[in-house]
Formats: sequence, structure tokens, C-alpha cells
Amino acid sequence: MSFIYEKGFGFKREMREKGVGLIFIISAPSGTGKTTLLREVIQQLPGLQFSVSFTTRLPRPNEKEVEDYHFVSHSVFQKMVEKNKFLEWAEVLGNRYGTPRPDLKKLKSEGIDFILDIDTQGAKKVKNIIGQPVLIYLLPPSLKVLKERLINRGVDSLEMVKFRLASARRDMQEAEGYRYVIVNDSVEEAVEKLRSIIIAERCRSNTHLVLEENRRGWEEKDG
Ligand code: ADP
Ligand code: 5GP
Repeated sequence: MSFIYEKGFGFKREMREKGVGLIFIISAPSGTGKTTLLREVIQQLPGLQFSVSFTTRLPRPNEKEVEDYHFVSHSVFQKMVEKNKFLEWAEVLGNRYGTPRPDLKKLKSEGIDFILDIDTQGAKKVKNIIGQPVLIYLLPPSLKVLKERLINRGVDSLEMVKFRLASARRDMQEAEGYRYVIVNDSVEEAVEKLRSIIIAERCRSNTHLVLEENRRGWEEKDG
């Protein structure tokens, strides 16, 4: 059991397995292993929901519509931008990616935490809107290992692998601005670290203040 502070009501006992309404953001260079780790952690930790982004990128052979992304055309994406459907969106490596607005009802009353797999530009935008997302950066053990993972994944040309590596070099400098950094060497250890971070964040004594600030952010800046 853990305790969730409720203003005016003292401490209320809550099942630790539930989320508390936090927003987690995980960023990493493409190919580091975000998808692999998130699949595992979401299975292991109840109350954690993956925020499925929209993208103009084509699906990879093992990717499923809705499970991995909502795959849409450029014109559909553009219409969604014009209709203000995204919490944030960005262009990454020549494609556009957008985070749909989370279901506020779920965040506020159903004990759900959201986890967003978005790049560093997106993380900054979300931080400006909601104040205190929990930022987690995932690093590959080295650029050499990242190159091997990209090649083994088998979806990119050698040209694209080189492009991704050059972008990874720049991107990894942003890790310093994140609250947590995990090196994805062994999957088991990285999953354990990610799980531990989420559980620890759910138990922080100031969670109620974080939630209030985040909600004010949604309501004031986001409508
Ligand atoms: P991302 O979602 O960050 O682009 P993926 O989860 O698709 O990355 O992982 C890229 C490739 O690396 C996949 O083939 C995956 O199986 C592999 N991989 C992920 N984590 C590890 C790890 N810790 N050790 C070895 N291979 C890994
Ligand atoms: P991939 O094409 O490898 O799935 O993702 C490429 C990059 O886009 C990754 O860094 C991933 O985190 C990022 N990304 C995925 N969805 C979103 C999104 O909705 N917004 C932003 N800003 N980046 C995203």
C-alpha cells in the first residue's frame, strides 16, 4: 500500500499498483530500445498507459496500427494540426509525429499514469505546458552498440543508419536536462530501473503538488 495525500482529507490509502495521474516522458535516439522496454514495463505495472502518437512515417513490418502508432497521411496530420488536436507535435528525421491530448478524466480520477515516447523537442513542449512531467532519458551503451541495434532491427538502409547515428550524437547531449538517465545495456536491468523510477515517483511526498501544477497547466494553457 502507498499513501496519496488528498487536500483536506489527510492521507488516503491507495493500492500501490495504481497510477496517480503522472506524466512520464521517455526519450532516446531511435534504436536505443524504448519500445522494447516500454512493452515490458507496461505489462508489469498496472495503471500505466502508453500514449499512442500519430505519425506520417510508414509502419515497420512488426508494427501494428493503434498499438504502436496511428499511421496517417500527411494531409490527415496537417488537418489535425490545424484543428489543434495535438498536445505537441514535431518533425523528426523527415517525418511528423504528434501526441494526442491525454484523456483528462483518466488522469484525474481513474488513477492512470501516462507514458509518452517522444523526442527531446516534444519533451520541452510538454514541459512548457504541464510543468512537471517526469523526464527519463534512455542511452545506448555506446554509439557502436546503437549502430549494431539499428542494423539488426533491419528496417533502415545503411544511409539511414548513418543519418540516425549523426542525429543520436546531437540528441544525447540533451540527456543532462532530464531527471533520470538509464543506460540500456541489459534489457532486464534497464526494465528494473524504469519500473523502479515509476514506482518511486508514485510514492513521492510532493505528488499532490505536482498533480495540481500539471492540472493547472492543462487547464490554463491547454483549454
Ligand atoms: P526504439 O524504440 O528506441 O527505436 P527498439 O525497442 O525498436 O528501439 O530496439 C531497437 C533494436 O534493439 C530492436 O531490434 C531490439 O530488439 C534491440 N534491443 C533493444 N534493447 C536491447 C538490449 N538491451 N540489448 C540488445 N538489443 C536490444
Ligand atoms: P521512430 O520512428 O523510431 O518510432 O521514432 C522516431 C523519434 O520520434 C523517436 O525519438 C520518438 O521518441 C519520436 N516520437 C514518437 N512519437 C512522437 C511524438 O508524438 N512527438 C514527438 N515530438 N516525438 C515523437
